[in-house]
Amino acid sequence: MGPQGLGITFVTLPLVIRVAAGGQWCYDSQDPKCGPSHWKELKATCGGSKQSPVNINRRRLQRDSGLGDIVFEGYDQAPPGKWKLVNNGHTVMLSLEGEPASEHIAISGGGLPGRYRALQLHFHWGSPAANGSEHTLDGHQLPMELHIVHINAKYRTLGEAKGHPSGLAVLGCFFQVSEAPNPNYNTIVSGLRNISHAGQSVDLASTFRLSTLLPRASRLSRYYRYQGSLTTPDCSEAVVWTVFEEPVDIGWAQLWAFMNTVYFPASGAVPQKMTNNYRPPQPLHSRKVFASRDATSSRGCPCHLLSPLLLLALLSPLSPSP
Ligand SMILES: [Zn+2]
Repeated sequence: MGPQGLGITFVTLPLVIRVAAGGQWCYDSQDPKCGPSHWKELKATCGGSKQSPVNINRRRLQRDSGLGDIVFEGYDQAPPGKWKLVNNGHTVMLSLEGEPASEHIAISGGGLPGRYRALQLHFHWGSPAANGSEHTLDGHQLPMELHIVHINAKYRTLGEAKGHPSGLAVLGCFFQVSEAPNPNYNTIVSGLRNISHAGQSVDLASTFRLSTLLPRASRLSRYYRYQGSLTTPDCSEAVVWTVFEEPVDIGWAQLWAFMNTVYFPASGAVPQKMTNNYRPPQPLHSRKVFASRDATSSRGCPCHLLSPLLLLALLSPLSPSP
């Protein structure tokens, strides 16, 4: 319709925008009107009784001696081909599928009901002022959390897997902030500058051993297990969760890069940095969180619960480095 079309375009345009905004989910840091407390209005499942993340109360864990060593297949070799790092508008995601090699990155054992192939990994983080993990430990949030998403090998598609309580298995790793960078995260962190804007992706310079992103091998038998969901809409209750007890180090400058390099989709005139992209803990209801055979029995938090900002404040007098 031309400019002489007498106002009809002025009526239809705002309607189109309103429908699009109503169908979107977001985090509170983008717009509280579409944040996590509203997700159940878009997808009823998000209001279900087996939602993730949850608080892991270490005084209420139930030990399950059947939760032994997880078998990691293909985690200890850099596969051939390329991995794509994506800003999908909600997180930074490393796509592990697409190449034939992904068939060989898998987990089993550790009480998992089958073999699960790795699909993708992504992160949840906070802001300079606050931590941003999804799971919490004894009510405390940690600076950042890694999720490695796997699909039960007996299902062919994500859609199919989402229809079953054991369709997906996600490994969750907490981070603690260190003064020195963790070189194992260099490839991902240096890719961030190429995916500032939502929808952008970049092929990483090289693949690497996925095991290098995890806690050290001797601590991988210490984990928490429970039945839950995806932590973003549609919130399918199809996830066997494994959250490792030992946090992984991330340098404060590396964490800073996540908080300052990547942006949410533009909604207004001012671009918004991607921060606080986490869902808060959901009610446990009748579920139990199990401790693996080797998990440390509760008592005190061995982990570093300082916020990145506080840590920066503490480190800055020392920081004039050569
Ligand atoms: Zn996640």
